[in-house]
Amino acid sequence: MRQKNRPDKDQKTDQQLGMGRRIMRRDFVQGVGLAALGLGVVPDSANALPVTAKDADYPPTKTGLRGSHPGSYDAAHAMAREGKSFSNATPLDEAYDLVVVGAGISGLAAAYYYRQKMGADANILILDNHDDFGGHARRNEFHQGGEMRLAIGGTHNLEYWQFSNAVNKLMSELGVDVKVLRTEPNFSYDYKKDEGTAFWFDAETYGENKLVKGFSIRGWSSSYSVETIDQFPISKEARKQLKAFYSARKDILRGQSDEQRERALREMPYLTFLEQHGGLGEEAQQLFHNASHGSWGMDIRCFSTYEALDDAMPGWHLLGEKLPAWERDYPAAFFPDGNASLARLMVQNLIPSVCPNVTAGNIALGKFDYGELDSSNETVRLRLSSTAVNARNSKGGVDVSYIREGKILSVRSKQCVMACYHSIIPHICPDLSPQQSDALKYQVKIPLLLTNVLIRSAAPLNKLGVKGARCPGRMHNAVIALQGINTGGYEHLLSDDGAVPLMFWGSLAAPRQVKHIKDQLRASRHGMLSLSFEDYEREVRTVLDGFLGPAGFDVQKDILAITVNRWPHGYSYSYMDLWDPDWPEGQMPHEIASKPFGNISIANADAGADAYTHVAIDEAYRAVNELTA
Ligand SMILES: Cc1cc2nc3c(=O)[nH]c(=O)nc-3n(C[C@H](O)[C@H](O)[C@H](O)COP(=O)(O)OP(=O)(O)OC[C@H]3O[C@@H](n4cnc5c(N)ncnc54)[C@H](O)[C@@H]3O)c2cc1C
Repeated sequence: MRQKNRPDKDQKTDQQLGMGRRIMRRDFVQGVGLAALGLGVVPDSANALPVTAKDADYPPTKTGLRGSHPGSYDAAHAMAREGKSFSNATPLDEAYDLVVVGAGISGLAAAYYYRQKMGADANILILDNHDDFGGHARRNEFHQGGEMRLAIGGTHNLEYWQFSNAVNKLMSELGVDVKVLRTEPNFSYDYKKDEGTAFWFDAETYGENKLVKGFSIRGWSSSYSVETIDQFPISKEARKQLKAFYSARKDILRGQSDEQRERALREMPYLTFLEQHGGLGEEAQQLFHNASHGSWGMDIRCFSTYEALDDAMPGWHLLGEKLPAWERDYPAAFFPDGNASLARLMVQNLIPSVCPNVTAGNIALGKFDYGELDSSNETVRLRLSSTAVNARNSKGGVDVSYIREGKILSVRSKQCVMACYHSIIPHICPDLSPQQSDALKYQVKIPLLLTNVLIRSAAPLNKLGVKGARCPGRMHNAVIALQGINTGGYEHLLSDDGAVPLMFWGSLAAPRQVKHIKDQLRASRHGMLSLSFEDYEREVRTVLDGFLGPAGFDVQKDILAITVNRWPHGYSYSYMDLWDPDWPEGQMPHEIASKPFGNISIANADAGADAYTHVAIDEAYRAVNELTA
């Protein structure tokens, strides 16, 4: 909870924060006086991107409220919140072998596997409610002074490389080599101490703006000095507690077997662990509250001790483990636009005319012609801004209706894969059994926020000697410079102190009085959708002014663009120690939810109850096999 230590009169006005100034907003592309070389062409020189008049229709360059952008969820909310059903669809004269609902990684992979199995002649229609494809795997693209700067608009990277054979095969066919995509040492968030791990305390919460370098609550290691805590603008007592916590060496579960230890850690809330075993009072605990907002999208109060330690929160030193000289081994493979490049590679494979010559080696530079996505010349068609509202088994096939530009339209297909998030499926498929509908609704997705801000120069960060900071008092827990991800043909060297995108990463905290985890997630989603662009803009301006202002950053002039990626339905919910029962084998909600019915099967990462890209792909593979076996 914010402590509101600083009186409001000391806060800067909107005008002082530069709120009225013109920045790149929706549909506005700046600084791109390059020769128009035509869409679908991959330029030779790194980052020089051809731009044409069609750029207004090129969603990656759109700024403002993105992610789940305004207009994309109206039909779904009308069904789910108001119980509205859409009938009297106008049938289109189009027939498909497969309709896929959802053009996220799972839906695209489903189309890919189906075509591979059924042949290149298979007619496939992919529907998505957004104006861009990829689902969470979203590309943000900025242009400034002729340079293109890419940012991750949703899914960051490929993690944990023990992929299934199906995923490995897909990667190899797309030319994706995860080892080549490993970007360290150039980019590893702010996990490494020598890369400038820092904590930024804001005046509104802590009474003064203060940057404390060489400290991380998450990546605590023996290489950090507890003396750093003396610099924290918190009470003397809270500082004393924190220093004692990090200095302690004991084993609170001494004498217990491994099994007993695990059970104890899974049953103990992490906040209880911090309080009872770490000796931290409420003020000290507050520093931990939003620390896992990015990696898990949840408040730390939702976590068991086991889950928190697994997410690199401190505590092993109270369990008899030595503090590691912590260099997080994080096997992550990055494209500069996150896994949007993977989505683009799949789309290019399915519909080559969108960008004929692109490969995994230059995918980040490929300019896609969105006009080609839904072309009658191709066997695979991707139809954006189209929300599926009904899918029904009938006469040996499936009738699928959707809303596009206010019209209810329907197509006939032999088969259908639902690759959208699960909680909407019972509203689209009213013929499902009540048991399956309830299981699908058990999945309450975890909201996430990724706000990308293009700033004029990396110089203020370099002057401070940091790559970003963790902000325990703010809406976004982390601010991280997206620089040094030189893959997919793209280059943004660390030595370049020109314009740089800063990724503000986190989630909205639910009010403290909201207790149950699912109510917290719903409250967070509600809050995220209730805020205006100006609310987000004010937030990032306030942070940048306080954080980088002392290093010469001018909040009125140095912000060039802001793209707020809201993901109200973000990570798939995985079962949590403190909140979910143990089900008998085969009876877990996601297992019941993802059963096929008639000619419809169910994919999406939700089907694996695990928020990973490779899970989304595995579930697509299963869903396609269920239809084609
Ligand atoms: C901010 C963020 C960061 C992440 N980072 C990582 C990461 O670093 N590594 C990793 O492995 N995973 C990450 N994940 C998780 C990962 O993105 C997902 O597991 C995976 O991409 C999900 O793909 P999907 O296709 O299952 O679902 P989605 O990406 O949600 O795609 C489903 C699509 O279906 C659409 N849809 C829903 N309803 C309808 C309808 N009625 N009609 C038409 N379309 C509909 C949705 O809007 C969406 O576009 C992240 C997720 C988020 C939100």
